[in-house]
Amino acid sequence: MPKTTNSKCAAVLGLTLLGFAPLPSIFHRAPGLESAVEEPATRDDQNVACSLDLSLPGTMSDIVSNALYREMGVKESEVHAYLNRTRSQFPTGDALLAAAAKNFELSEEALTVAVEKYRHCNCSHAPLVAGQIVAREDSKVRPPVSVEATQFAKDVTLHVVLHELAHALVREFDLPVLANEETLADAFATHYLTTYLPDRAFDVIRARTRSLMQEASEVPRTEWTVSGEHNSDARRAFQIAAVAVAADPAKYRSIATEVGMSEDDIRSAADYGTEIHRSWRRLLKNYRMPEGMRSSEARVRRDESSEFLDNLCQGGLADELTEAIKSFDWHSTVTIHFAESGGGASWSRSKRTITVNSEYVQRFVAQGKSLER
Ligand SMILES: [Zn+2]
Ligand SMILES: [Zn+2]
Repeated sequence: MPKTTNSKCAAVLGLTLLGFAPLPSIFHRAPGLESAVEEPATRDDQNVACSLDLSLPGTMSDIVSNALYREMGVKESEVHAYLNRTRSQFPTGDALLAAAAKNFELSEEALTVAVEKYRHCNCSHAPLVAGQIVAREDSKVRPPVSVEATQFAKDVTLHVVLHELAHALVREFDLPVLANEETLADAFATHYLTTYLPDRAFDVIRARTRSLMQEASEVPRTEWTVSGEHNSDARRAFQIAAVAVAADPAKYRSIATEVGMSEDDIRSAADYGTEIHRSWRRLLKNYRMPEGMRSSEARVRRDESSEFLDNLCQGGLADELTEAIKSFDWHSTVTIHFAESGGGASWSRSKRTITVNSEYVQRFVAQGKSLER
């Protein structure tokens, strides 16, 4: 898949695996899981037949959405904008599919094939082989993974998940989106770290900006994009560093200079960044749990039997994220799910779930190793 500079939020990396491999048990619901931390999925859901009904426009809309941006290369924001606007107008799932194909100038046949490929992507039943649901033990769809989750990868992942948490907060609390939401989400992650995790903030913000600069370096500067919902990677790194340096100019100075901020840049960031921190403080206080209390409507879980994910979640990452997600007063359960799968990191509004795919984290492992060289 070609390198895209806006690949950080939506699950757009190497999704070929998903074609026939439903994300294992992600959206499985069972009683008593509301307050569980890192709750492994039970195996009861594996033998349930698929009950997905694509004749329903709402159900078709979810699958068409995945098919369009994961398979057909349509921008995720355009897909969502279109489906949100039109979803309710169609009497049947087929009518929605046909209209979506026409709108994005795709052949209906091609979109139908893509929909078939992603048909079960939100299902909680076990994987399919030749159209039959099989017990997961028989399935060969999970790639073997034996990569160590390095501290660098854990640090980048913490910022990435906090970024997704911002999307969750925006949607669940209907926060105002007064400018680019991707920039807002990076600012939230950075604000959260400097404010609530000051002991971790330096390492995490430095790892995140280094990772972004590494991404940026893979594209010649003259080709750094000015289009798309995400800023270019280098611009993201700059803005993250600016928010950090506004929180504490001395502490985050080396990060600022590393992303290329001049003395003037640092001075002016301290000025405009202060407004960003103040706005977040004023806004978030309405949605945070009272001091000393934790939401029972939040959980962090990971796919079982993944050494890599066990390794990733150990050493504090799962605890940090549990603390973060439980510090907000959600009205319904919100989940952070570490999945052994291809793809990036994303927030699903319909599932109230932040999914972080192992392949994405492995990219950070590789980046960290190449930075050491
Ligand atoms: Zn995002
Ligand atoms: Zn299914």
